Amino acid sequence: MSIVTEHSLACDLLVAGGGMAGVCCALAAARLGTQVILVQDRAVLGGNASSEIRMHIVGATGLHAGVPLSLESREGGIIEEIRLELAVRNPQRSAAVCDLILYELCRAEPNLTLLLNTTVVGARVEEGRIRHVVAERPSTEDRFTIAATMFADCTGDGRLGAEVAVPVMRGREGQAAFGETLAPEEGDAKTLGSTILFQAKQHDRPMPYVAPPWVRKFQPTDFALRPFGKSGSDLGLEYGYWWIEWGGCLNTVKDNEDIRDELLAITLGIWNHIKNESGLDVSHWALDWIGMVPGKRESRRFVGQHILTESDLMNSRAFPDAIAFGGWPIDLHPPEGVDAPTEAPCTQNHLRWLYDIPLRSCVAANLENLFFAGRNVSATHIAFASTRVMATCAAVGQGVGTAAALALQAGVIPAEIAGSSALLRSIQQRLLRDDAYLIGVRRADADDLAPSAVVTASSEQAGGEAALVLSAQTRAVHGPDVVACAETANQWENVLAEIATGKATALYTSAPPDRAAPGLHRWMSEPAAGLPATLELRWAAPVAASEVQLIFDTGLHRFLTLSQADGYTARMEWGRPQPETVRDYRLEAKIGGEWRVIHTEVGNYQRRRVHRWAEPLPTVAALRLVVTATNGLDHARVCEVRVYS
Ligand SMILES: Cc1cc2nc3c(=O)[nH]c(=O)nc-3n(C[C@H](O)[C@H](O)[C@H](O)COP(=O)(O)OP(=O)(O)OC[C@H]3O[C@@H](n4cnc5c(N)ncnc54)[C@H](O)[C@@H]3O)c2cc1C
Repeated sequence: MSIVTEHSLACDLLVAGGGMAGVCCALAAARLGTQVILVQDRAVLGGNASSEIRMHIVGATGLHAGVPLSLESREGGIIEEIRLELAVRNPQRSAAVCDLILYELCRAEPNLTLLLNTTVVGARVEEGRIRHVVAERPSTEDRFTIAATMFADCTGDGRLGAEVAVPVMRGREGQAAFGETLAPEEGDAKTLGSTILFQAKQHDRPMPYVAPPWVRKFQPTDFALRPFGKSGSDLGLEYGYWWIEWGGCLNTVKDNEDIRDELLAITLGIWNHIKNESGLDVSHWALDWIGMVPGKRESRRFVGQHILTESDLMNSRAFPDAIAFGGWPIDLHPPEGVDAPTEAPCTQNHLRWLYDIPLRSCVAANLENLFFAGRNVSATHIAFASTRVMATCAAVGQGVGTAAALALQAGVIPAEIAGSSALLRSIQQRLLRDDAYLIGVRRADADDLAPSAVVTASSEQAGGEAALVLSAQTRAVHGPDVVACAETANQWENVLAEIATGKATALYTSAPPDRAAPGLHRWMSEPAAGLPATLELRWAAPVAASEVQLIFDTGLHRFLTLSQADGYTARMEWGRPQPETVRDYRLEAKIGGEWRVIHTEVGNYQRRRVHRWAEPLPTVAALRLVVTATNGLDHARVCEVRVYS
């Protein structure tokens, strides 16, 4: 008889994999009332962003941050909440604190059950639907059979989808397969390789390094195109190098153990070269941490209801079922990695426009109730080369979690969501309400009482008028007037030029003009008028209000991510709230001719704040937001106000 204990569990949505896609998917659905079980095979959440791997999260901000008040491409919603939480509560940039914050966010949700150290190992399909998954937790000798109405594969490797025979794409499609100019002429089975990262520290005395005999030996020529020890970038000595890449010519799932061993030999060989052969003055530097879990870039990509392609990205094709957006360059790497020293470690093809990611790329084509989110979504190798970055994966995760929650409420199966324009509209509107950004989709929420109010303010700047809190968009994405000033469309070459010359070059990625409403889309009080500054919404006939939602400015044009790289972090407002953000405020309601304080907030640093009252406030004739302090800026900024009864 087996000593393993069997458990039967049930939920509405089973999320397999707790990387950034899975965490955001699970949180989004749970917050909308869905009973969620999140199964994560590791002890910590975050996937490649976790303390086990330590990759920093990037997204549509790309390699060059945006321009204030014209290009705010950093993702909103849950990933922004996480970034702001990390920026304020993790000034020390501890990788473990990131794990803890993700854990804390999941633990705070009563509808979310988190199973850590638990691996999805199988699933049962009947009549075109997954009925349950089987998951194992060896540390406690437990096995779970988890039934659910819907399933989301956020495992990166696509283990759940592969178990239930969802068709997969692997390797690189040839040019002819999808008409992609960036694809190789002939397709092959090669993928992007994996990487082991490290951290090093400078000490107050020499720290010799003696390499084990099995490390790889390197020559200076191996690094002609792979810079290290550069300040002001993510190529310093304190944090490993993403270009230490290898394994793309093997199977990144099946050969993962061999890939780890070889990556350790390569990484320590490179450290040995830096320490003992490079001629750099690094005598006081020593390794502090080295990963034992390879960061995986690519393995399976599923075939969904739509396969996202190069042309969808390049032309910023508008999808009626958009649930997220991307903007990172099409970032291609030689599969041979460090074994191809004469090839650049990446070619980062600039995208002129932010692009839509449709829900159909996240829904299995051959099953009724399986979503995917993260690096395994339905995209060609070329499109995946942009969608794979973690803030984009997180935005897709939130989109899928939201779609699942609303589809469950509507009784619609994932395979049929794309056919229901009313459901798609409500999914998109819910995403906007939760501060996600969707290109060109404007707020149109019949339940929101704010648009029927007249908005005034104690003071306002030209272009930052009070009424803009109802502008139906919460960020500026039209882009700067002067767009391209870089030499080439390969962003990596611009990064190298920047390191060499110290001169910044930039190619921006903005919303396409036909879907970007120009303007600042926020109220900005007049600095000369000082604080407090007051924003007032007044209704012709009193309303009953039980929820007020505020969206504050958090500097979405800047980089913001937990990074172990000093140069990269120096470009951010790290270790503190973002200066634009309203810190202290109160809400007042005019009820029966009297102004009453209904909420007082001190020390805010979040972008989205929701204030709810158990009993609706009756007969509210007007609502007032009184901003008494910001986190640094000399005036108040508010991007949006919503009011619900
Ligand atoms: C070296 C490197 C550099 C990169 N550079 C960047 C960068 O600078 N910024 C950026 O944003 N992205 C970068 N990427 C890409 C990015 O890290 C990945 O594409 C991203 O992690 C994908 O997120 P995900 O949530 O889909 O998958 P993952 O991060 O892989 O998370 C999936 C999670 O699911 C878990 N899991 C797997 N199988 C199971 C199972 N059967 N049951 C339960 N759980 C399971 C895994 O343990 C993992 O925690 C880089 C990747 C690498 C490797």
